[in-house]
Amino acid sequence: MTPKVSSGTCLICRTPITKRKALKHGIECLQTAGWPTGKKPSLIIMIQGQRSKKYWLIVLARHDALLADLDKLIRDVWVECCEHLSSFRIGGAMYDSDDEYSTDAMAVPLADLVSPGSTFSYDYDFGSTTSLDLKVIGESPVTPPDACLCLIARNDRPTIPCDICGGKAGFILDDPDEENAHYYCSKCLESTELDPEYADIISNSPRDGICGYVEDPIAALSWYPSGWSADEIVPEISGDIQEDIIFSDEMEMDNAIAAVIQDIGPDIDAFVEAEREAYGEEDAGMAGMSVLAFCTFMYTLYKREIGVWDATSVQNCLVENLSQNPIYPDDWAENAVPALCRFLTRMEASGRLTNASELIAALKEGEPDFQEEVTSPEKSKAIFRHILMEAEEMGVNTNDLDEFSTFAVKELATLAGFDLENEEVQDELIRQIEGGQPAVSGDELRTAMIFIRCEDFCSRFDDETVLDRCKKITGDLFDHPATPLLRGDVILWSAAIVYTACRDAGLIRPGKGGSPRLAEEIGLFFGFERSSIRNKVAALRKLLPD
Ligand SMILES: [Zn+2]
Ligand SMILES: [Zn+2]
Ligand SMILES: [Zn+2]
Repeated sequence: MTPKVSSGTCLICRTPITKRKALKHGIECLQTAGWPTGKKPSLIIMIQGQRSKKYWLIVLARHDALLADLDKLIRDVWVECCEHLSSFRIGGAMYDSDDEYSTDAMAVPLADLVSPGSTFSYDYDFGSTTSLDLKVIGESPVTPPDACLCLIARNDRPTIPCDICGGKAGFILDDPDEENAHYYCSKCLESTELDPEYADIISNSPRDGICGYVEDPIAALSWYPSGWSADEIVPEISGDIQEDIIFSDEMEMDNAIAAVIQDIGPDIDAFVEAEREAYGEEDAGMAGMSVLAFCTFMYTLYKREIGVWDATSVQNCLVENLSQNPIYPDDWAENAVPALCRFLTRMEASGRLTNASELIAALKEGEPDFQEEVTSPEKSKAIFRHILMEAEEMGVNTNDLDEFSTFAVKELATLAGFDLENEEVQDELIRQIEGGQPAVSGDELRTAMIFIRCEDFCSRFDDETVLDRCKKITGDLFDHPATPLLRGDVILWSAAIVYTACRDAGLIRPGKGGSPRLAEEIGLFFGFERSSIRNKVAALRKLLPD
């Protein structure tokens, strides 16, 4: 049996090294690196995954480097997904990263706390925690040339077998509904029914597969010795599904829009102008957005410039892709296809294509499926959930309707692939936000958020009784003429709805019986005192039909 060697690379001289030899090599290599020396020695720190030790980093830390600097390095190279809190534990004391109440707990020089031989630990994210072990394995008179910390060695990208064929996997699919992530080679990923948009390249990180973690080579690069490039840190993806994956990347999307604009931008402008004269400002704006989104999909996903559009791809694009466009006013489902047809007629008239009637027939044939997709409740639920998660991560106040709907409209626009830097898009958004015809109404948004949180809580139950009851209550409150859901704390609404539903299902009973634990869990889950929830429940009851 061959001994397990954790292979890696010296980032200074690029020699392959093993974890065991990393220190010896590092010390020697530093001496010939031509880096400055300091008055006080620098620490050499080994960081490794607590659970999977195949992930390791070696860091050179100048004597005045702070815990906060090391926290930043670890985040940039290995763990950052959505700015979770982190904490070092050193000799029984905890040093937490700053949350909204800045504590500066990490503003301590490392060298004040640790010395050669010291071991300590680090946790990132107190929900799905990634725990790391750290050890000061040595010191060196040499200091990092540019910053207070420098990564000097790390493990090589581990080889993970494909779930299906056992070959070398390149992609990870992290299904939030399943406990374990799946790994696939590019061939097998293509053969699965799975949506490649959710596939990521396997990360060289102990956080691989957790919380949708993806490596950020640009952030990591800032801690590398000079001479490295981001492409060398995370290699480009290969295989046919590359297009699909890259398409989900905002920057590529911007490039795609730029390509469309370069090719047929003036034609689209002229079309929007004609629409404006015929149908007015509002409809013209939406027609323009529909056409631009449609063209962007055609140019990227279908690789077809306008002159070679054919019936099949145009119909697929309408039903599969454009329908997923998350931003639309109520009448978009009816108006999108007619607008696209007018656009095609115009393009034929100006000599950009010759088969308009064939394409129009294909679009009309696809229209019923398109409309069904557009209005599918599953689709809007997924979108609302996404927006809510983003909003929470960005620290948007979801109780402030103005702040939240502004955020939601922008997020919807980004999802739809619009370029937020583009002035016309900005004007359109401002128009939507400041009245006119918002893509989503405030009460729809709030209601969706309230229900999503109920759903999250209800995932603990084996059957749908409580969830169905929540759905009914939320629906009744939404339909209530006094629109109660528009006011008050959204999370408290969710808590009260869940509480009411549990009561109705006989899971919480006033007085004796039922589960007092469940009531407590609701309070804990939503972060409210039971008395506040009960008051809200009482108010809620009065609004429900008998
Ligand atoms: Zn070296
Ligand atoms: Zn996260
Ligand atoms: Zn495979």
